[in-house]
Amino acid sequence: MTTKPAPNTLKKMGLDSPMALALHLPSRYEDETQLYSIEDGIHQGRFHAVQTQGVVIRNQVLFRPRRQMVVTIEDDTSTLQLRFLNFYPSQQKQMAVGTHLRVRGEVREGFQGPEMVHPTVRAVAVDAPLPTSLTPVYPASAGVSQAAIRKAVTQALRDPSLQDSLAEFLPKTLMNELLPSHDWPNLQSAITYLHQPPADADTQALLERTHPAWRRVQFEELLAQQISLKRAHAIRRERHAPHFAKPAAGNSLESRLLKVLPFQLTVAQQRVWEEIGADLSLPFPMNRLLQGDVGSGKTVISALAAARTMEYGYQAAVMAPTEILAEQHYLKMKEWFEPLGVQVAWLSGSLKAKEKRAAQEMIESGQAQLIIGTHALIQENVNFAKLGLAVIDEQHRFGVRQRLEIQQRVGSELFYCHQLMMSATPIPRTLAMTYYADLDVSVIDQLPPGRKPIATKVVKASRREEVIQGIKSWLSRGLQAYWVCPLIEESEALQLQTAVESFEQLSQALPEFKVGLVHGRLKSEEKAAIMAAFKANQIQLLVATTVIEVGVDVPNAALMVIEHAERFGYAQIHQLRGRVGRGSADSVCILMYAEPLSMAAKERLQTLRETADGFVIAERDLSLRGPGELLGAKQSGDAMLRFVDLQRDAWLIELAQRAAERLLSDHGDIVERHLERWLGSRAEFLKA
Ligand code: ADP
Ligand code: MG
Repeated sequence: MTTKPAPNTLKKMGLDSPMALALHLPSRYEDETQLYSIEDGIHQGRFHAVQTQGVVIRNQVLFRPRRQMVVTIEDDTSTLQLRFLNFYPSQQKQMAVGTHLRVRGEVREGFQGPEMVHPTVRAVAVDAPLPTSLTPVYPASAGVSQAAIRKAVTQALRDPSLQDSLAEFLPKTLMNELLPSHDWPNLQSAITYLHQPPADADTQALLERTHPAWRRVQFEELLAQQISLKRAHAIRRERHAPHFAKPAAGNSLESRLLKVLPFQLTVAQQRVWEEIGADLSLPFPMNRLLQGDVGSGKTVISALAAARTMEYGYQAAVMAPTEILAEQHYLKMKEWFEPLGVQVAWLSGSLKAKEKRAAQEMIESGQAQLIIGTHALIQENVNFAKLGLAVIDEQHRFGVRQRLEIQQRVGSELFYCHQLMMSATPIPRTLAMTYYADLDVSVIDQLPPGRKPIATKVVKASRREEVIQGIKSWLSRGLQAYWVCPLIEESEALQLQTAVESFEQLSQALPEFKVGLVHGRLKSEEKAAIMAAFKANQIQLLVATTVIEVGVDVPNAALMVIEHAERFGYAQIHQLRGRVGRGSADSVCILMYAEPLSMAAKERLQTLRETADGFVIAERDLSLRGPGELLGAKQSGDAMLRFVDLQRDAWLIELAQRAAERLLSDHGDIVERHLERWLGSRAEFLKA
């Protein structure tokens, strides 16, 4: 109960300046402005905390049923017990008989009458003044007391430098024009209000963060984000990239590629290819996201973009987040391009040193025209001779830094390469408008013809035998299947163990079929060999850990069983499930779950059974997890929006967008100061 300022712990929380403290806003409030008599307090305090006071008339330490301290206080109206199950000797002293205590807590009926359990207690004079504002409760980390944060914040709010830091930048005319009906305080008043709201403040609105003071802060934060996104947009247009105009029809690489493909592009594929082709013909770097549900056919679009790039003598690179996925791209690209005389190179971390060096040399000399690989493309000692296009598959698996990294290696100081990101995880509109404002988006909203919808079934783990019999009759029809083993986040070893167990059980149960096992610990040659055998139908049932989550493409495998589906998130199951439903057979996905099922897991499995719409699933995911994981922002280590909730505050985004446009065009001087205030060092991430 003593207040020790904890400068070091505060610093660790990033609260190292008056401005940082000012922006450390309360998560809720306690009302210590009201003081009840004990009698009234007992009546009022049944459902919410109340404050009352009295003099200690008894202080007992009891030992049954367990050690505890019971203190009785009294005023003119009644008495009240205070019960402490943990206490320090210092507290015993603080609450000695005869002391006057002010206490705050909820009241309940105890064995010996009304009582408060672990109330907040202060020894004060009878007539100690009451605070006039609500008491803020701050987000804190272990070892930092509320009292220490409150003290530091109060000091910070009085710091003269804050006048400057929180000064009003936004021209009144602009605010009036854009926000005519919003009666928002200026920033400084808003911040002060949020730290010290008056006793009669609308606490509901404060808690829900819809209060005008919150709106002002949220607006400013969004404004900073919109400004920096728009600036990134402008900066990109001033950069140089080689431009690749659409070649005259005839013998171009892309038209030859289209001829060797065993299928025709869908209308949606044609449209996105037009959009991407148009970007490639411009003299500044493309920054485009190709979005399309699993199985919608993004790979061939990246191949076309690569063909266009190589047509002009530039290299194209395709980077994928896992070895299996990258290898699959490599095999496919080789199949498509080698007959056309293109040199395709492969680079992954698991290559032998000698092979790696050979690949690097081919990349550096320009002999390799199309390069496929994993993170090795940016991690190892790789320098491209002349990189014109970088394709990044499953882009949300990569961090922002990694995407910046590839620009460092294009082989020239004079130009940037075009970037094509691909993702099966749709970006909800609110996210697209905030985090991705400098990203152009193309959507493949149509699956190739002949696909049958995937029937998803939710089945209890106790019906495992039945499921295995189902697999048996499935395989007897000449089809193949996946068996996906549970995700065990705590332990990779344990995950492997359960995979091996399932593998052994299934091998025994299905002796007439070949069962394979693939997991993350295998060497890449081993993985590739197993995947190739599966693809060639030498393996009929593939037991796998989540290594197959992305991109694997075996059309004859149209049944998937996911064990312990309750442990997977929305996106993971959706991705996994996308591995089936690629051929013309009816596809089935069985989500096997173990009981007990949490409410959240139950809802998740139900949603997944009912919809295959990646967009619906992504929205659910967003409301559950926040944008960090969808964006890969986790990897960048910085959440960009602290005060804005994209679901709750979506309507503010458009306002901020318009304000950003106006500031950039009419008030350039304000822009810098505003960015610095809100983003500081985080601004660079927005450029990626
Ligand atoms: P994803 O978008 O999930 O990366 P892929 O590019 O792997 O999907 O394509 C899935 C499957 O569909 C592949 O076998 C691919 O060859 C095939 N495919 C792609 N486009 C078409 C099309 N227009 N018609 C028929 N099959 C197609
Ligand atoms: Mg893919």
